[in-house]
Amino acid sequence: MRQSQLFCKTQRSAPKEAETISHKYLTRADFIEQSFSGVYRLLPLGYRVFKKIEEIIRKEMQNLGAQEVLLPVLQNKSLWLETKRWQTIDPPLFKLKDRHDKETALGPTHEEEITDLFRKRIKSYQDLPLYIFQIQNKFRNEMRSTGGLLRTREFFMKDLYSFHADEEDLRDFYEKVKKAYSKIFEKCGLKSICVEASSGTIGGELSHEFMVPSPIGEDKIVICKKCGLAANVEKTGEIKNCKNCKTLLERKSCIEIGHIFNLGTKYSKEMKAEYSAKDGKTLLVVMGCYGIGLPRLMATIVELNHDERGIIWPKEVAPFTLHLIRIENNDKVKNAAEKLYNDLLKKGIDVLYDDREKTPGEKFADADLIGIPQRWVISEKTLKENSVEIKMRDKKEVKLVKISNVQSFIQ
Ligand SMILES: [Zn+2]
Repeated sequence: MRQSQLFCKTQRSAPKEAETISHKYLTRADFIEQSFSGVYRLLPLGYRVFKKIEEIIRKEMQNLGAQEVLLPVLQNKSLWLETKRWQTIDPPLFKLKDRHDKETALGPTHEEEITDLFRKRIKSYQDLPLYIFQIQNKFRNEMRSTGGLLRTREFFMKDLYSFHADEEDLRDFYEKVKKAYSKIFEKCGLKSICVEASSGTIGGELSHEFMVPSPIGEDKIVICKKCGLAANVEKTGEIKNCKNCKTLLERKSCIEIGHIFNLGTKYSKEMKAEYSAKDGKTLLVVMGCYGIGLPRLMATIVELNHDERGIIWPKEVAPFTLHLIRIENNDKVKNAAEKLYNDLLKKGIDVLYDDREKTPGEKFADADLIGIPQRWVISEKTLKENSVEIKMRDKKEVKLVKISNVQSFIQ
């Protein structure tokens, strides 16, 4: 992609209301733009990162044996009345009326939808277990939405639902999802901590959250350095010592990037989702649900991967693999840069090529702000050595590499 044609206008300063680093940098680097309170537009750079995150998640879901569907955003009120969450879910539903005065709502989560789908189709133990996921926009009627992508009113979420014949089978799968989640976050450059959590209005008996320590995090967790126990303070209350080994607990502020629930038979009981067992008995299906909010994950990656000049994208989620920058616009430099750009495209490399008529200072500042993992510079000076100057975004040193040799630097 030629940067002269990229729909991206970097900005020197962040919007006044931006408090968090991710909000500031994602806005300044023009990955996102606010439409109105808590509602964002994903611009080309932002959408590229989003797609990479989505693919990482999708792959891990498929590895778990889950099948992808797309459920409606508009919710069937009668299903929500069955679980009584039409009134009780927190934050409350975004409700609306159609032209016949019939009420519906924008889906914040899909337990009702999926349980209804299940009970209409599944009859026998032979159809179990079953794992279904989707990646779709959700709507949350938040009291306040600040912090950029950390808390929005409309956002994409991956939600996975699992159906099992018994609790034991659910528990096995639940542990597999835990591992898959850690893997997803690791690929996104985040070290997550899995903690015991409270289940809120989703319900069920057991739930775990995936937390990333950060000073701006709204959740507080306690961790035991000795035995590894970790829990959300919402769950434990204000305890000081570990319940297992009595060690003094450490407190940390965290951002929650994933939440998984052992729902047991909460929804199957309320909505009568049953199957017939091997011995012919009719039993309630046992369920789990597992969520990851994609914009929040994207913001958290920035919170944990940046410096004073801008974002430092981990390579798996970076908008481009490398940033090729042309300094000076004489024919010699231009021709060499164009040739290298075309060679890279032919090799299928995802390259952003800064061919703009701007000063080197402006180009470098933009490159640091946007945060592509590798920066390749071609100038009169590097061409004297038949070379490209390569710098990793997260390192200080630069090195000159012969153009004939340069492709070995692409990882
Ligand atoms: Zn302990």
